[in-house]
Amino acid sequence: MRFCKNCGRFAADPAQTHCLKCGKPLPPLPPEPVPQPEEKTGTAGPLYHRQTPEAGMTTVEYFFTLLVFSIPLVGLLLQLIWSFSGTEDPARRNLSRAYLLRKLIGAVLLTAAAAFLAVMVWSVLSSGIVTAPTPYYW
Ligand SMILES: [Zn+2]
Repeated sequence: MRFCKNCGRFAADPAQTHCLKCGKPLPPLPPEPVPQPEEKTGTAGPLYHRQTPEAGMTTVEYFFTLLVFSIPLVGLLLQLIWSFSGTEDPARRNLSRAYLLRKLIGAVLLTAAAAFLAVMVWSVLSSGIVTAPTPYYW
């Protein structure tokens, strides 16, 4: 549905390029809604549904993956392996990457906090505010 921008006359015919009343060029046709091709390739269904049901991980698989991740060295090793190839399952790979990322951010924050604390302690000790307590006997 188009209207002339000059005089506002309704242009019913999609083929017409100029206004019937004033002769000014009409705005271009809005793009036709592209009909979605329905793929009927057997029982496979549309492309975006063609994942096999076993793709991804079940709750139990997630549970055991997280359980393995919590093992100190083995977990890190598996996260590295699964993050960079080593598994065909994208769910497992993404989970591993997310865990590695979280671990990395945690390590950075922890290092920063430790450095900050060390500087604080050092500056307080070197300022002379805190002196060694005098021996106290009673
Ligand atoms: Zn017009």
